[in-house]
Amino acid sequence: MTQLIGGIEAGGTKFVCAIGTGPDDLRDEIRFPTTTPAETIGQAVQFFQEQEAKHGKLAAIGIAAFGPLDPEPASPTYGYITTTPKPGWANVNFVGAIQQIFDVPVGFDTDVNGAALGEWRWGAARDVDTFIYLTIGTGVGGGAMVNGRLLHGLIHPEMGHIMLAHDWQKDPYAGRCPYHGDCLEGMAAGPAIEERWGIKGQALTLDHPAWELEAEYLAQALHSYICALSPQLIIMGGGVMTQPHLFPLVRQKTQQHLNGYVQHPAILQQIDNYIVPPSLGNRAGVLGAIALGQQALR
Ligand code: ADP
Ligand code: ZN
Repeated sequence: MTQLIGGIEAGGTKFVCAIGTGPDDLRDEIRFPTTTPAETIGQAVQFFQEQEAKHGKLAAIGIAAFGPLDPEPASPTYGYITTTPKPGWANVNFVGAIQQIFDVPVGFDTDVNGAALGEWRWGAARDVDTFIYLTIGTGVGGGAMVNGRLLHGLIHPEMGHIMLAHDWQKDPYAGRCPYHGDCLEGMAAGPAIEERWGIKGQALTLDHPAWELEAEYLAQALHSYICALSPQLIIMGGGVMTQPHLFPLVRQKTQQHLNGYVQHPAILQQIDNYIVPPSLGNRAGVLGAIALGQQALR
């Protein structure tokens, strides 16, 4: 498909907007911090208007956003960011604000469902139809494709908020999720690492016990996702996963937790190809948004 698409990766700390048709044809990209909805969405609108003046009309726009959000087209609050604790952003009609200016189809989904769709079209998940995309960053989130369709269900998955086995003697840290305390996000997102150890993840040495514990929690989570969804592939991105040494630790601990129960060569023999980083790298998010725009066009 060669029609020009606008993509918005709407993150809690920054927005990335781009236009193009895919990874080999990204015409222009802009990044700016997430402030108020009016200002931030306004900057995205302005970027697309400038791009349209240069490259011609956009055929569709895709938005891959932090949540929780409402991705159900039949719902009265479709296109809204809903209950987010992020100041100013609760109950914001994101799709409406874009559609007011641009009379084109708009795709709207979670950042992680978007990234999953991008990896499926152009990246690591091209050959599979049931897989998950996780991000371990400021928060923890997961998107899923099941039998070739992005999973929404009741609202959308909240894979960051599953509970873990918490050994309080080994790890007295209480967790920082405002809703659940020691859920996965509360224990294993970047800010939890920083709060528990008093140092940012980026500054921890490779031999720091933080990594063993981090891998333990991530492996517990993967155990649950593997048992619940039977994914053919697990993609792990986000700032924390840019520590390449985490991958072998997570793979090994996932195998240990599963304990040979899930009998498939992908897990027993080829786990290096089963738990992988995003192949679109740090463009997974914005390319995912473009993929959502293309999907809306169809
Ligand atoms: P966001 O979630 O806002 O999109 P990131 O995915 O970059 O952004 O996540 C930011 C979080 O990841 C911060 O808590 C940061 O400390 C942590 N982080 C970023 N880079 C690294 C790194 N190299 N090692 C460990 N943690 C990191
Ligand atoms: Zn939680």
